[in-house]
Amino acid sequence: MALARRRSAGGKKRCPPRKPAFSVYCSPMTPDRLDRFARHIVLPEVGGAGQVRLAGAHVVLVGMGGIGNPALQYLAGAGIGALTLIDDDVIEASNLQRQTLFMPADMGRAKAHVAAEWAARFDPVLKVVPQVVRIGADNANGLLTGADVVLDGSDNFATRLAVADACVRLGVPLTSAALGRFQGQVANFAGHLPDEACYRCFVGDAFDATDCDTCADLGVLGAMVGMVGAFAAMQALRVVLAGASTLGDPQWGRLQLIDGLAPSMRALRIAKDPACRTCGGLSQ
Ligand SMILES: [Zn+2]
Repeated sequence: MALARRRSAGGKKRCPPRKPAFSVYCSPMTPDRLDRFARHIVLPEVGGAGQVRLAGAHVVLVGMGGIGNPALQYLAGAGIGALTLIDDDVIEASNLQRQTLFMPADMGRAKAHVAAEWAARFDPVLKVVPQVVRIGADNANGLLTGADVVLDGSDNFATRLAVADACVRLGVPLTSAALGRFQGQVANFAGHLPDEACYRCFVGDAFDATDCDTCADLGVLGAMVGMVGAFAAMQALRVVLAGASTLGDPQWGRLQLIDGLAPSMRALRIAKDPACRTCGGLSQ
């Protein structure tokens, strides 16, 4: 895939070969890993230093459904060194319309196991741990400790809030992604920082007890979850790359609203709520 660009007056012109950034030569990456990630490494916004950072990162994915599937594909493709996949659900026929890692023969099997098997085939170097468990307030600390970022693509508010609250407690950044019908929402949160909002600052306390509309109720277009999941992976990569390369601008609290029907995307800034029961006490 290549972007169209205006041809110069002199007709077709070949680009000179680009030398990898100097940092590549200083990295501990093996020649086959350098080959695998060559298209990242030549990007000035990632570079050799960024690729080394990705290889050393641990991302926890909560929910291996419509968002988790493409997010895993692009995070594994990016060379994230360690991935934990949390989902207690099993694959059903109605998932196949949008959860593209799963085959009809996988029906009835745990999503986390099947997704981990895909990742092991895709890149055996990555450490991938499936967790077939429902994450909640009781076990979130143990499951999320040590993550560099948590990508939450779960399908209910109770889980989302339990995950978000644990991230603030543990000081772990959160990439939150959600969608319904043709609308997607993706943002990076760092509520553990004094001036940054958490997910609860955004949605409030009203959703703790009751789940709202789900994909089963509202419907969702398969390609739309691909778009939102891949975008969530990109936002998580921004978090991982912070301090390593220029793509590492997490844009905390900037909620991207994706309208798949228009199509369009616009951003809102989520401010820290001083009264937030999760992170409000951290305000200055
Ligand atoms: Zn908050």
